[in-house]
Amino acid sequence: MAPYLKKPALDPVWPPKGYQKKVEVTDADDWWILAAVHGRSDPWDLIVYNFQTRNADEVNWCLHHLVGCRRTTKDGKNYGFGKPCTQKQYVYIPPASWTPPTSEDEDAWLLVSRTLNSSAVKGMHVSLAGLGLSMSAHDFAKIGYLVNVRRIDVRLQRSHPHAAEYVPETDTMILSTLGESAVDRSMIVHEAVHASFDYRRSQGVYTGMIQEECFAYVVQMVYLQKVRGSTWPSSWKDFDAHDTWKAAWVIASKIRTNAQVTKEDIDNLRAAYQDSSAGRGISPDRRTNHNGIY
Ligand SMILES: [Zn+2]
Repeated sequence: MAPYLKKPALDPVWPPKGYQKKVEVTDADDWWILAAVHGRSDPWDLIVYNFQTRNADEVNWCLHHLVGCRRTTKDGKNYGFGKPCTQKQYVYIPPASWTPPTSEDEDAWLLVSRTLNSSAVKGMHVSLAGLGLSMSAHDFAKIGYLVNVRRIDVRLQRSHPHAAEYVPETDTMILSTLGESAVDRSMIVHEAVHASFDYRRSQGVYTGMIQEECFAYVVQMVYLQKVRGSTWPSSWKDFDAHDTWKAAWVIASKIRTNAQVTKEDIDNLRAAYQDSSAGRGISPDRRTNHNGIY
């Protein structure tokens, strides 16, 4: 009997992102031993981290094609480490803080994927000469794609201090809610702008933190106007980023009506952001900490 192999629907990200250690494995190792040695109570943590699947046939496919396993286990149903094999064999150990995705993380991923692949987002093109930044339909499509193939990971953290945050170090978008309102979705669009500049970093695009932040708010407001209409809702008041939103809203309105965005509009937005709790204390020449998405 030979192991069943099933090619995963999505190519696994291999090696997995952000691993803490690369370890060579031999026939003295198995997932249970590796888990015990590396402080994991569940061997599936390591399997899911390496291959992004819990399906046994897909795991066998990964062991065969990615790790180069040819030795089968005693019952013949699975591959094991060690000879015979096609190459030196390695598996990857995640950072201690890494946890396997939960079903809520999957829900968050789906929400992000649907939002970024919606027609409202796909048709967007925002170019702001005053900041020297733009986000084309192609840029949005690219980020939607990177989410779909999980080069960008999505997690739900209900205790997260911000509505949403894109973390360039791990190429992860964190949501704090599974809400699906236009405002909730606009937070995803905002973070997608940061993700896009992280992606473009590997193409030599550098951005200043304040410049990119201001632009992300403008894109977010363009999205909100597209899906909610161009009148500022009277219910939007007394929230922390209110003045930033309002200044970005003015610019978004002008972009949508092809009116001239003035230097004063940009200065107002910059000032509002630097006066908000998010923007306070950020030095004007500080760069973003983007490192590319691989
Ligand atoms: Zn931001």
